[in-house]
Amino acid sequence: MSYAIPFNKPHLTGKETEYIREAVSLGKLSGNGEFTKRCQAFLEQRYGFKKCLLTTSCTDALEMCALLCDLQPGDEVIIPSYTFVSTALAFVRVGAKVVFADSMKRNPNLDAEKIEALITPRTRVIVPVHYAGVACDMDRIMEIADKHHLLVVEDAAQAVDAYYKGRPLGRIGHLAAFSFHETKNIIAGEGGALCINDPRFIRRAEILWEKGTNRAEFFRGEVNKYGWVDIGSSFLPSEVVSAFLWAQLESMDGIQAKRKALWERYFELLKPLADEGRFTLPDLPDYATNNAHMFYLVCHNLEERSALIGKLKENGILAVFHYLSLHSSPYYAPKHDGRALPECDRYADCLVRLPLYYDLGLEDVDRICAIIKG
Ligand SMILES: *Cc1c(COP(=O)(O)O)cnc(C)c1O
Repeated sequence: MSYAIPFNKPHLTGKETEYIREAVSLGKLSGNGEFTKRCQAFLEQRYGFKKCLLTTSCTDALEMCALLCDLQPGDEVIIPSYTFVSTALAFVRVGAKVVFADSMKRNPNLDAEKIEALITPRTRVIVPVHYAGVACDMDRIMEIADKHHLLVVEDAAQAVDAYYKGRPLGRIGHLAAFSFHETKNIIAGEGGALCINDPRFIRRAEILWEKGTNRAEFFRGEVNKYGWVDIGSSFLPSEVVSAFLWAQLESMDGIQAKRKALWERYFELLKPLADEGRFTLPDLPDYATNNAHMFYLVCHNLEERSALIGKLKENGILAVFHYLSLHSSPYYAPKHDGRALPECDRYADCLVRLPLYYDLGLEDVDRICAIIKG
């Protein structure tokens, strides 16, 4: 079925094919070439990461994080249950035990005040997910991590160009991962980035990235031959992907501004309905900025949400829900410790995402809101 207003439409800046043509004419199409370096330098300079490595997806970047944490079987990782599969999958693949945390009442981010109760002698890592690009309470999370000697890996998949108390997300934990999947603000089709803030991880990250070889050091002239020195995989994207991404990064300010205008319009038009108690709107804590990754609202129950999605569908508009709680997923439910995670289940049943993409018009937002109201 096709919709008059789809849920998402990938935005092209118009420069993508030009840069891909340039990459092709440079004659080097494998990874770690000109465009990869340009994208990495841009992210490092704009946000202050010690090192940034492009990856073929955020899932890959998270898998690199899990490898860098050097976990032993049975080590525990605290992860919100209300998140995309990859957040947990990356750590499950290295044999870790995932301990799922509940969300906050005010927004779907993990509740920092509930973390300490989950810490055991086996806990090694906390993985905050900045849902909708809205920051988790990072000072509190870093304080808990310091106290218990834990690593913090930020799943910043949705959080490009978003800030916590003036600090860029992805810049606060020891490691972080971004996504450039076509549903995110800045896209490469499939793509991601690993960001390193603790310099002790840089050398090994470069090796994991290049199939367990010290190729990066070789190309910098630091060693006179390269070979197999560790585990790893082919985590780096081709120059075709990086050239596409460069066109997007270059236009980031314009993309963000347009998305924010659409977000603000939704908020302004839906606020009176929220004040009447029809549903709740996103609640931005004082410490967080809004990168307009997503506009969502939270209904009172599953029936009201289904009715809302149905009404929009009848009018040619696709709204979607997401994240079935990971702790009750077919794969993880038998391994979960049985704790109820009521806020997480509430978001899984009641949250609905409205269309939000660069090429959506303000008049489209007006129409969507009129239908929601009617
Ligand atoms: C999109 C997303 C991912 C996965 O990103 P990919 O680039 O598709 O691998 C991981 N975590 C969260 C929170 C996401 O939203």
